[in-house]
Amino acid sequence: MTQTPRGNILIVDDTPANLDVLTKFLSDQGHKVRPAINGEIALKAAAKSPPDVILLDIQMPGLNGFEVCERLKADPILREIPVIFISALDALEDKVRAFEVGGVDYITKPFQIMEVLARVESQLRIQWQRRRIEALSLFRDELIGIVSHDLKNPLNAVLGFSEMLQEDVQAGKPIDGALVDRIHSAGTLMLNMVHDLLDNARNEERLPMRFGAHVLQRLVDEQLDAYVLAAGRKGISLVRAFAPADIVVQADNRRFAQVVSNLISNAIKYSPDNSVVTAHVWQDGNLGIVAIEDNGFGIPAADLPHIFEKFYRVNTQEHMAVEGTGLGLPIARVIAEQHGGTLTATSEPGKGSTFTLTVPLASG
Ligand code: ADP
Repeated sequence: MTQTPRGNILIVDDTPANLDVLTKFLSDQGHKVRPAINGEIALKAAAKSPPDVILLDIQMPGLNGFEVCERLKADPILREIPVIFISALDALEDKVRAFEVGGVDYITKPFQIMEVLARVESQLRIQWQRRRIEALSLFRDELIGIVSHDLKNPLNAVLGFSEMLQEDVQAGKPIDGALVDRIHSAGTLMLNMVHDLLDNARNEERLPMRFGAHVLQRLVDEQLDAYVLAAGRKGISLVRAFAPADIVVQADNRRFAQVVSNLISNAIKYSPDNSVVTAHVWQDGNLGIVAIEDNGFGIPAADLPHIFEKFYRVNTQEHMAVEGTGLGLPIARVIAEQHGGTLTATSEPGKGSTFTLTVPLASG
């Protein structure tokens, strides 16, 4: 049996005794319940904070249940909320009318409380699944966007340059090393994107962590080494500003290295030629700290709060000229938090950015 999410339920009934019974019972089941004694109050309450489900009595003075439902269905925001009718009438025409005005279910009074619960929770599950489907379809659209834009460019480069190589070979010309390099770097870029996407998909399920005690300076040093060539190509110098005494942290070294690697890669990607990227490592209380500082493009203040959101990329010309997926930082932050640490950023546009990663000490 699938788990039922707890919901926000609006109950509308002009009989206080009914309201009390339903409110108490559904609250006891862990749902958030708001009672409304007539249709006008119900519409106001729904507009103020839309509930997940509405239980709606039909016979009420003032606006009756059908009228309340019609007004809900005329509102673009409230129309999606499922309405379950409750009625003392067991007349067929009432039931038909209930569905005609947009109700999703119908309960006859006197009701069995367990039946009300089952029907409410069934609607909550449908709502929850609907939202999940919407989120997944959004994710799918975004994936299509990545594959069509971001992967297509390097793939075209691989095909284009390899065709040039084939022509050279057929013509008996010597192989142009620069073409081979470009094919290789386009391939590396694609592989990184695929890694990012897969990591993201896996992170949704939260991979188990393999923690151990590791020297923080060594972890960062190894990642800096991995970027010597990439930095060299842009004339960027990688500087180590490490505290001298070993800082031993509690980390899953492979996953942690992925975070540091990502920050260094971004610092190089989003910096101009001949700039400097500095990796600081120090200890503060029972935390080890890594700060990757660059004097690159920086991040506009309006974008800074969003850069850890999935697929978010800064939409300026210099940022967009760099290939990316907008998935690196959100993944990095999840991994930092799985370590019991944090990942934050400060930046000044045109001056540079600093990404600061904290991680608990092995002994702390
Ligand atoms: P990607 O680099 O693949 O686009 P990220 O999630 O790693 O995705 O980064 C999100 C965005 O944050 C980037 O598109 C870039 O605009 C900005 N950003 C990240 N790191 C830096 C940095 N060191 N300097 C400037 N901007 C950065």
